[in-house]
Amino acid sequence: MTVPDCIFCKIVRGEVPSRPAISTERTYAFHDINPAAPVHVLVVPREHITDAAGVGPEHGGLLAEMMTTAASVAEAQDIAEKGYRLVFNVGRHALNSVPHLHMHVIGGHHLGWPPG
Ligand code: AMP
Ligand code: ZN
Repeated sequence: MTVPDCIFCKIVRGEVPSRPAISTERTYAFHDINPAAPVHVLVVPREHITDAAGVGPEHGGLLAEMMTTAASVAEAQDIAEKGYRLVFNVGRHALNSVPHLHMHVIGGHHLGWPPG
């Protein structure tokens, strides 16, 4: 199911343009419009799930597909060997701004830790 007014559902449906990275049956990965690092790609499920707190046991296969999509993004963007970070933001304190589940794939330079 997709949600009419959700920006990432619109991207999945092709109604809002995006710069594609990887496309799979149940996931889509596209470049973040405001990159935080040389590589910053978002992996989303094609179906609407609000955030990581809304993921349940029924989403196990979908989550695994998101992880393999992220690994494919890392290979394609040439950051797999040097390393990268996978991030889910949940809620206000984490500055989650888009209420459609998305995993950030961030890399391309040395990343600071801890965040925040
Ligand atoms: P979050 O803060 O975890 O909700 O991350 C949302 C991310 O979506 C931010 O990094 C935004 O830059 C990115 N974003 C918002 N709108 C778009 C868009 N139309 N195309 C690509 N990335 C977007
Ligand atoms: Zn959505």
